[in-house]
Amino acid sequence: MASGAGNKRRISILGSTGSIGTNTLDVVAQLGGRDRFEVAALTGSNNITLLVQQAKATGAELAVTADDALYGELKSALAGTGIAVAAGRSGLIEAAERDAGWVMAAIVGTAGLAPTLAAARRGADIALANKECLVSAGDLFVSAVHAGGGRLIPVDSEHSAIFQSLEDDQRHAVERIVLTASGGPFRTWTRERMAGVTADIARAHPNWSMGLKISIGSASMFNKALEMIEAKHLFDVHPDQIEVVVHPQSIIHSMVGYRDGSVIAQLGCPDMRTAIGYALTYPDRPLLNVDRLDFAKLARLDFEAPDEERFPALRLARTAMQRGGLQGAIMNAAEETAFHAFVDGRIGFLDMADIAEAVMDRLVSTPAASGMEDVFAADEAARAEAADVIAAKEKAA
Ligand code: NAD
Ligand code: MG
Repeated sequence: MASGAGNKRRISILGSTGSIGTNTLDVVAQLGGRDRFEVAALTGSNNITLLVQQAKATGAELAVTADDALYGELKSALAGTGIAVAAGRSGLIEAAERDAGWVMAAIVGTAGLAPTLAAARRGADIALANKECLVSAGDLFVSAVHAGGGRLIPVDSEHSAIFQSLEDDQRHAVERIVLTASGGPFRTWTRERMAGVTADIARAHPNWSMGLKISIGSASMFNKALEMIEAKHLFDVHPDQIEVVVHPQSIIHSMVGYRDGSVIAQLGCPDMRTAIGYALTYPDRPLLNVDRLDFAKLARLDFEAPDEERFPALRLARTAMQRGGLQGAIMNAAEETAFHAFVDGRIGFLDMADIAEAVMDRLVSTPAASGMEDVFAADEAARAEAADVIAAKEKAA
């Protein structure tokens, strides 16, 4: 692991301008900022103003925009600062490969896979927010981290909770993983009512403030579907050992059930900075300025079984795990394509799961991946199939 001047820790944040990215910079600032950390690289996409502000404030060595067309704007905004600038896919890889011992993987979607992989291969510790890496590339991604020699530390709140609740020498005694789900804004809605919602309605999460993709994914429970597959790969459990329970208050972030009947849970206020801080200083727990739970005010915690009729995404995750191979990559890419079509107003809310299912069925005989290139090829094929299904739906409407 690289260590900076005066033993400062060298870190990079891929996706620094997003919800996880800005929370990460807040945690870094809380833990001493430039006195304790050297920022090797920051990446964003179209919010150049924020990226420039972050790069200047942290004294980052390199700032990258994923959008090639914005290279000139970024370059002129950082002229004279000594901060290097790059753009596009190659720029993202350059950021990931820059010498930093800890990398926050917080790009949204499959776009995060190649850069996160580049950081893993050179042996950085990966703080993983980008669950799509595990859903698409699964064991191949985990193997790449192991081969690089770095650690894989979950940031997703559920997986951080499980990571914290797992007793290292008792892995053989784990009976089940219980993922909690808030149920999203449509927890009590009928399918008929959900059919007509717009992206603006679907993005309003009751408990968490997050990026657009994951907020919509929480409303459809597609995010939980991704998290089931994420858990399978992170904790090496059988799909039958993964349960989902709806817990509307989002206070219990997830649990591990052991063979003696014990259930160990991690609780906290819904604030991603706790999981980010834990990933940054693991195995230490940092002093963080986040809200503390007030149990008397909380009064109660509720639980209910998820409804797979109204939220078919959960069923799709089980199908993808049963089928194995590249079905995770296919499900993820199809849903990402459908998500963009929903946000653009081209399809309805319930169409997203239908499209993912149709594409999974169409590509069911795709052979297993022998390498990362197969994952990228399956991702592309699924996007093309999804575009096809979306076009057909539009025509029929
Ligand atoms: P966001 O939309 O707020 O931010 C995404 C980041 O990725 C931004 O920096 C954006 O510039 C960058 N980006 C977008 N498109 C890109 C592209 N094509 N190429 C490169 N960079 C691109 O998203 P977020 O909510 O911060 O989520 C980031 C990741 O973390 C997702 O995988 C999400 O599932 C996961 N996650 C988020 C939360 C949360 O609370 N927000 C919780 C758990 C997991
Ligand atoms: Mg989560």
